[in-house]
Amino acid sequence: QTEAAQQYVNEVFETIQKRNPGETEFHQAVKEVLISLIPVLARNPQYVKHAILDRLVEPDRLVSFRVPWVDDHGKVHVNRGYRVQFSNAIGPYKGGLRFHPTVNASIIKFLGFEQIFKNSLTGQPIGGGKGGSDFDPKGKTDLEIMRFCQSFMTELSKHIGPDTDVPAGDIGVGAREIGYMFGHYKRLVGAYEAGVLTGKGIGYGGSLGRKEATGYGAVYFVEQMLQNADLSFNGSRVVVSGSGNVSIYAMEKAMQLGAKVVACSDSSGYIYHEAGINLDTIKRLKEVENRRCEDYVLEHPDAVYVAGCSGIWTIPCDIALPCATQNEIDKASAELLVRNGVKAVGEGANMPSTLEAVDVFLENNVLFAPAKAANAGGVSVSALEMAQNSARLSWTMEEVDAKLQQIMSNIYNECMRASEEYGLAGNLVIGANIAGFVKVADAMLAQGV
Ligand code: GLU
Repeated sequence: QTEAAQQYVNEVFETIQKRNPGETEFHQAVKEVLISLIPVLARNPQYVKHAILDRLVEPDRLVSFRVPWVDDHGKVHVNRGYRVQFSNAIGPYKGGLRFHPTVNASIIKFLGFEQIFKNSLTGQPIGGGKGGSDFDPKGKTDLEIMRFCQSFMTELSKHIGPDTDVPAGDIGVGAREIGYMFGHYKRLVGAYEAGVLTGKGIGYGGSLGRKEATGYGAVYFVEQMLQNADLSFNGSRVVVSGSGNVSIYAMEKAMQLGAKVVACSDSSGYIYHEAGINLDTIKRLKEVENRRCEDYVLEHPDAVYVAGCSGIWTIPCDIALPCATQNEIDKASAELLVRNGVKAVGEGANMPSTLEAVDVFLENNVLFAPAKAANAGGVSVSALEMAQNSARLSWTMEEVDAKLQQIMSNIYNECMRASEEYGLAGNLVIGANIAGFVKVADAMLAQGV
């Protein structure tokens, strides 16, 4: 059975390589999931018979479109927009939009593919999708951002809807961009469909706690993993990469639980502050003044700034929380973290560790919380936002936070249970992939080809 499952997985992987040439990030994300599913396929031949994997690795559709926009000097620019609608087996397509110059079909597809399993793990009725553009928001004025968002939405609006596909933010897309896109969508459809986007401002249908959700959720998940090994954030030394939404609120929650965060970063470099990062300074620099990490040392002369971001993993820590971007921890960084005594790694970003880096952590018994599980808090609160929009009411921060904690705890238990069921107790990578997959696969079986 295992041999047949292995062969099926190989065939599926060869197909996606042939059909998506050069899309290395997409291949990486698919490979990781396929390998973990071999024991499930061996035990459940119906998944093979009904070609569940062949169907899952091919998105329902990938839309790519021209996004023309005019800058403040009257110059016309063209970017490419994407939306991948991967799977709606258990609910409307759901997933963020990323605006970053590195965005291409491979990045959008890897993110959309991961989103299927992540969203399934949350226990909420949401399918998997993702989108974005190679537009670079860096250095653009507010009006340029608005015009870009409106042009992007002019095409995207044809493909989304509160019961069809519900985008949200990701790198480069926060409440401001969601606001501009929502305003334009409303104008285009002529109706107030609050549930068409999540991550909206609190005053017009957004949910309290959405901004904090990914970072808080990641720390809730990691705390549970630590407690299971008689460890805790309390008194530990933490390195968090990034300084966006995920990173800031992961730092905040880790500090609230008694950790000392000694470093964070942006795409230019990292800050190392042995006394502990001052979160008020980071929040003001990043959320209000739109400045760089480099400026932190102007206000905290005992901190150091180092150009280049991968160097952040040379700093010894008990807990590493990669919250910046994909493949930010390679094999060499993972080995260095292990040599420096890291006890736990929690992925706040999507696929921040390469396949080789994950192997290094697992082989060295580092507690490892994979992104699909650990960063599911963001999309979970997005689904809570959809629920509030449908019910036309708003929950308090306390209500949302309590639900988020419950969801993260359920995800942890589900991952542990699945890892035990397949004889790999405590391997949360395998556990997350299996638990996320089974629910989607069973829905696909029930709904026919
Ligand atoms: N971009 C986030 C993620 O990777 C959130 C998606 C959402 O809220 O729909 O899960």
